[in-house]
Formats: sequence, structure tokens, C-alpha cells
Amino acid sequence: METKDNHKDLYIGIGSNMGNPIENINTALNILSKYNFFYNKNISSFYESPPMGPADQNNYINAAVMFKSSESPEDILKLLKEIESSMGRKKSKDKWSERIIDLDIILYGDIVHCTDKLTIPHMLAHERAFVLLPILDINPDVFIPMKGFAKNLVKSCLYKEIKKLKNNERSNV
Ligand code: AMP
Repeated sequence: METKDNHKDLYIGIGSNMGNPIENINTALNILSKYNFFYNKNISSFYESPPMGPADQNNYINAAVMFKSSESPEDILKLLKEIESSMGRKKSKDKWSERIIDLDIILYGDIVHCTDKLTIPHMLAHERAFVLLPILDINPDVFIPMKGFAKNLVKSCLYKEIKKLKNNERSNV
């Protein structure tokens, strides 16, 4: 039988800059919340920041959600990709292209995972304020394996231009 010892804190980063990004993020949160292998949900504030790469696209809205889970990292990635395509995300060769929804595994407890398809902790999380600030909302003492405490990393990270949205623009799911 599975013990609670297997259950780790899974932080998922969520971003969108097409259509109605706040609605898209709330839709993704609602879908994720339906899976009973994700539980004890904790959602960050929502943030707005300019796009990385080409500037001819809308600003991004970003948030993070933390669940307890014991699913395998590969199964979680597969599910996130399925949710992205169910929401209309098209495959693009351009890594900076605009997107209706982006779901990334930011970190998963103390797991360090490095394959062609999946790197945990997310390889660029530590240098992005739009990733670090949401996970800090959820846990001010969150530690990113091999990188350090998010509260220290955020002081020296890149891509710092970011605005926290007002509470009434936040998700209540
Ligand atoms: P994205 O552009 O964010 O949709 O990610 C493109 C690819 O990055 C995905 O199809 C994954 O195979 C890969 N990837 C590597 N590490 C991660 C991670 N921690 N979370 C999500 N995707 C990842």
C-alpha cells in the first residue's frame, strides 16, 4: 500500500497570453483540480509580465499551483501536455511563440529528474520572476533543489518586469 511518505509538493507553473489569459488559467486550474491524485491545492496570486522573445505579442499572465501528489513525473508531464492540447494549444517550433496555455512542472519535492523530455526542477525557473514570485506566494520558504531558496534566487533573477494583479482578478477555483 502507498504511504503518505511518497507524496511530495508538486509546483506547476501556468502561463497564458492569448484570448482571455485569466480565464484560460482558471480553466486549467479547474481541469487540474478534477484529478484526485492531485490534492491539498494551493494557488498563487496572478502576475502580468511582458513576453520574453518577440515583443509583437500580448503580455503574459502567470500563476502557480501546488498540489500534493505521488504520480510519476512522466505521467504528470503527459497529463499537462494533454490538458494543453485539449485547451487548443498548437505545436510550434518557435519556443517564444504566444500560447493559449503553458503548463510546466517547476519542482516536485526533492526530485531531480533529467531526461530529454523532462527536467525537474524546471531548468529556467530560478531565473524568472514570473515563476519564482508565484511559488513564493504559496510557500515563502520553498527550496529549489540544486538552485537554492526561491526567496534568495528572486533577488538576482532575470526577467524582473512583473506586476501582481489585484485580488479581484485572481482565481477563486
Ligand atoms: P513548453 O514550451 O513549455 O511547452 O515545453 C516544451 C517541452 O519542454 C515539453 O514538451 C517537455 O518535453 C519539455 N520539458 C522539459 N522539462 C519540462 C518541465 N519541467 N515541465 C514541462 N515541460 C518540460
